[in-house]
Amino acid sequence: TDSFRALVATQAGDRQEIGFTTWTDADLPAGDVTVAVEYSSFNYKDGLALAGKNRILRKFPIVPGIDFAGRVLASDNSAYAPGDRVILTGWGVGEGWSGGFAERARVKGEWLVKLPSGMSSRHAMAIGTAGLTAMLCVMALEAHGLPDKAKILVTGASGGVGSVAVKLLADKGHQVSALTGRREEEPFLRALGAVEVIDRAEYASPGKPLAGERWNAAVDTVGSTILANVLAAMAYRGAVAACGLAGGMDLPTTVFPFILRNVALLGVDSVQCPKAIREEAWTRLAADLTEADLAEVTGEVPLDEVTGLADRILKGQVRGRQVVRVLGA
Ligand code: NAP
Repeated sequence: TDSFRALVATQAGDRQEIGFTTWTDADLPAGDVTVAVEYSSFNYKDGLALAGKNRILRKFPIVPGIDFAGRVLASDNSAYAPGDRVILTGWGVGEGWSGGFAERARVKGEWLVKLPSGMSSRHAMAIGTAGLTAMLCVMALEAHGLPDKAKILVTGASGGVGSVAVKLLADKGHQVSALTGRREEEPFLRALGAVEVIDRAEYASPGKPLAGERWNAAVDTVGSTILANVLAAMAYRGAVAACGLAGGMDLPTTVFPFILRNVALLGVDSVQCPKAIREEAWTRLAADLTEADLAEVTGEVPLDEVTGLADRILKGQVRGRQVVRVLGA
């Protein structure tokens, strides 16, 4: 049978509706590789999509879910054969193209990355889009130039991108400080390797254009006033990798950090990231983050319970990463 379970969003006038239904292969978009989804994961963008915010979902009906890992069922692409294990993140999947919250997906083979050897589908999704993005931030900071034992601030530290960034940077020997609105997550953040936990309130109100030089580097998942205050507190020639907007999409800063302290603001995007860089990031992730390393940051929900996560992630209540168990056929 070619029927399978899918979470599908439809649009009725201005309203978006979401529910589980049965789809067949004919309902999937016209890609060249069909995949039995084994695991997906829940990212901030999935929260926005399920809540109907920021116009993330652009085409209806659609299966949300911006990433997945699974087994190739059928392929018209010479790079993939049935049985191959693959990872999909980005490329607008789960936004304008049906994604991972269903037992099957069909995508363009050029979007896929082969599962690194030794990595399971679940391990890949414990990393997921958030973990890939954390690694892209680390790579951007390293390419800019990161001193040994750098003093690095990670904002939104208890979230998916933030928690993985803390772990990756601490494991490289850097002195990582974790900015969080959840003081109760201090033991969690210290277990990931943070040497210091800073209250979000310290960076949440509009500050001066320049503050004391505190950080060699930063990973920012929050944007808005918090990113402005991080920029103001960067040391001379420091760099900030900016990847998120959990606190807002504005950036009320001045040019002073850039023109007086030579600070670099490095944009990071995982969605259209070129294949060579993606593959380098996944190879490094496979080497640097075992599934056991991720155990403390990873929760798991079955596909049936995925809708309950949307409200929680948008309120900043989800800790670390959430894998979504699909195990389709
Ligand atoms: P997440 O798990 O929800 O993490 C976001 C964290 O930000 C929260 O856990 C919370 O951490 C903090 N936060 C939430 N609301 C806040 C607020 N109003 N003000 C200040 N801090 C707040 O989400 P995620 O999946 O890791 O994604 C993080 C961000 O990166 C999102 O904006 C997402 O869209 C973006 N992202 C971008 C890319 C890309 O390609 N550029 C890829 C993946 C994700 P604390 O409780 O510790 O403060």
